[in-house]
Amino acid sequence: MNNFTYVRAASVKDAVKRAVADHHAMFIGGGTNLVDRLKVFLDQPSQLIDISRLQMQSIEKMTDGSLRVGALVTNTALADHAEIRRNYPILTRAILSGASQQIRNVATVGGNLLQRTRCPYYYDTAFPCNKREPGSGCPAATGINRMHAILGASDQCVAVHPSDMCVALAALDAVVEVTGPKGIRQIPFINFHRLPENTPQRDSNLEPGELITSIILPPVSFAKSGVYLKLRDRSSYSFALISVAAAVEVAGDKIKNVRLAMGGVAHKPWRATEAEKFLIGKPADIATFTQAANIALQGAKPLAHNGYKVELTKRAIRRALTVSAQGGGIA
Ligand code: SF4
Repeated sequence: MNNFTYVRAASVKDAVKRAVADHHAMFIGGGTNLVDRLKVFLDQPSQLIDISRLQMQSIEKMTDGSLRVGALVTNTALADHAEIRRNYPILTRAILSGASQQIRNVATVGGNLLQRTRCPYYYDTAFPCNKREPGSGCPAATGINRMHAILGASDQCVAVHPSDMCVALAALDAVVEVTGPKGIRQIPFINFHRLPENTPQRDSNLEPGELITSIILPPVSFAKSGVYLKLRDRSSYSFALISVAAAVEVAGDKIKNVRLAMGGVAHKPWRATEAEKFLIGKPADIATFTQAANIALQGAKPLAHNGYKVELTKRAIRRALTVSAQGGGIA
């Protein structure tokens, strides 16, 4: 039994002030992952600061053409928004491939970023886990690791980030806006989540007391051709074995612009920047996409049970790039 107090924040400033005053407090929005963790004592806060009624539920068009998405916009509202469907279909498809309709109706954009890994050893407190209790060990490294990381892992943690939405946001160069005790700051999406290194207990670069207030989506002229390809054990309500978000712009027969990110492969959404650089100016054909896939997986270090992810991801990259280069749609 963990006793905690509950308070409803009156404003963003009030929420931050309360979190700064109590380092064992946690924010709660939709709570779709947090409440699961509370039930099994993975998180034992002294206080829950309810932010769900704060005014962060709108999607606004900015003068520079970007979209500002409030942190409390639900996953359903974001996926169904007309401008998102029209101009960022990669994001709609990623969101709709995750969780269930009921969960998406409640889960928030900010909370999606902060959901924690579904590594079974993390949730089973009969096992040690460096993420749960630093220094206790990582049973997944030598245990059942079929779902775990092939890129960017450390000997401290081999978990993967579970989000689909975040893979699309990484490809779209989104920016995370946060408010903290030192004011407002913006974090490029690919710098928001962390690799495990020696601090697997930290999933993001948020500082104590900081609250996500919005996600900014810059205009991406070729995002309409975006593709999200998710491969999983069953066709719904299942986390990705691997996933790929890709958007390609072709001019003539050459690649003019490209975005490529992967999910289910690392502790954070993985942007394949070297593969992107390789692709620019190359012919948009299967030979090029095959080379790009090889580059994207160059540093892969599979574990005992997840070697299949290397070839699966390469094939998914080829497929996603091919479909996007042909104008997009369902991969
Ligand atoms: Fe814990 Fe990470 Fe190891 Fe899973 S992979 S058991 S979350 S330390």
